[in-house]
Amino acid sequence: MEGEKMAKVKVRYAPSPTGPLHIGGARSALFNWLYARNMGGTMLVRIEDTDLERSSREAEEMILASLRWLGIDWDEGVGVGGPNGPYRQQERLHLYRPYVEQLLQNGHAYECYCSEEELEAERQELLGRGELPRYLGRCRNLSQKDREAYCAAGRKPVIRFRVPENRQLVVDDLVRGRVEFDSNGIGDFIIVKSDGFPTYNFAVVLDDALMGITHIIRGEEHLSNTPRQLLIYEALGFPLPQFAHVSLILGEDRSKMSKRHGATSVLQYREQGYLPEALVNFLALLGWSPEGEREIYSLAELTKLFSLERVAKSPAVFNLEKLNWMNAYYIKQTPVAELTQLCIPHLLAAGLLETEPAGNRLLWLQQAVASVQEKMEYAAQAPELLQIYFGETVELDPADEEAGKVLALETSPAVISALAQKAEAYPDWDSETVRRVLKEIGKELGVKGRALFMAARIAASGRSHGPDLNVLLTLLGPRVVRTRALAVLRQL
Ligand code: GLU
Repeated sequence: MEGEKMAKVKVRYAPSPTGPLHIGGARSALFNWLYARNMGGTMLVRIEDTDLERSSREAEEMILASLRWLGIDWDEGVGVGGPNGPYRQQERLHLYRPYVEQLLQNGHAYECYCSEEELEAERQELLGRGELPRYLGRCRNLSQKDREAYCAAGRKPVIRFRVPENRQLVVDDLVRGRVEFDSNGIGDFIIVKSDGFPTYNFAVVLDDALMGITHIIRGEEHLSNTPRQLLIYEALGFPLPQFAHVSLILGEDRSKMSKRHGATSVLQYREQGYLPEALVNFLALLGWSPEGEREIYSLAELTKLFSLERVAKSPAVFNLEKLNWMNAYYIKQTPVAELTQLCIPHLLAAGLLETEPAGNRLLWLQQAVASVQEKMEYAAQAPELLQIYFGETVELDPADEEAGKVLALETSPAVISALAQKAEAYPDWDSETVRRVLKEIGKELGVKGRALFMAARIAASGRSHGPDLNVLLTLLGPRVVRTRALAVLRQL
């Protein structure tokens, strides 16, 4: 039984290629993928590009690249092939035609010649009466003669679905439970536009049915489309798939997630130096939760634990701080050579690096990155965190109160100038030498603790905080430490 059930599951992600992959879309794709992998089922990706004006190949490529980057793969569909292709709706028009004919012939659909102006007038009239705007069926019963007259007048028809009256349409949703719709609230809707392209509601049903999709997992924003889709399934005699509508993603102010709440596309997170493991972990917990309090899960663990039963009905709130926390966790696990590669583009863009580092320079950078790895939430923070290692000289920051206090100590000028002198004595130094140098200065001047180490830190970096002091001095090297210490002395 279990095996039989598992073999049957087939899900799909069906993006409209109108822009980059958004957080909400990525979450839908992920939930489908997790469900398929958990059930030993099949994942399909199809492109819903019937909106000619808004669709583009660039957007399609961006979406697919984002999916792959997240680690979401698919067994069938665009770029992969399979027995139910093609997988772009624009290339499937010939497959839709017979079904349009069938619906026209058996009266489930009809041609409508209403002009934009007529439709708008109807809309205004309904709104004026306080009613829901919908198509009232003016062209429902045109005769052949009427149609010919419209055609002769140069009107191009759309094809509408004839929505039955007084029907209760029920979506048995795996997440939301039983959701009912009254067919009287749904006007006869367009299934084929005047340019011959199918609408979303029509093409989605044909594709899902023809591709053998068993479970439709998608965002709640599509729930209101579902009764229309149910009618098409029924009219064509296709078996119904199961539906699971996942709650919306809200921003922290509880309004629908938008640009105001931060980056909305996966690409932006990738560019900011977020790791796919972190984003996947975070997205999985947006509306789904396993048992227990744990928050860190690998893709393999998520796959094992995922179930639609534990998808929440209530909206998920996008918490950027939590994502940053999670990403910081994964950054700490990342090998430093890899993390350095993520940081390099940001350092180049910020002008801290002029060229792609190699050889010793790369090894040096890796050590610098390692020294701030604990502090880094995402790679775009690299210039800010690593700035301390770049440039010959430093300026004291008047806002750094702690630095001001330390510099005001009587012993500080002597410590700083001793550091400059010692640095001059070494053409090069390693961590062991630096340790010895600090110890010697302490002994010679009779200072220790904050008066020694903090003063040395400020001498080398102009600031009271930053990476480990020994690492800082070692990586800066004696020449830069000396130049900076002298510059700080001049600013006292
Ligand atoms: N093309 C639709 C979208 O991008 C997919 C809707 C569905 O999953 O049915 O929102």
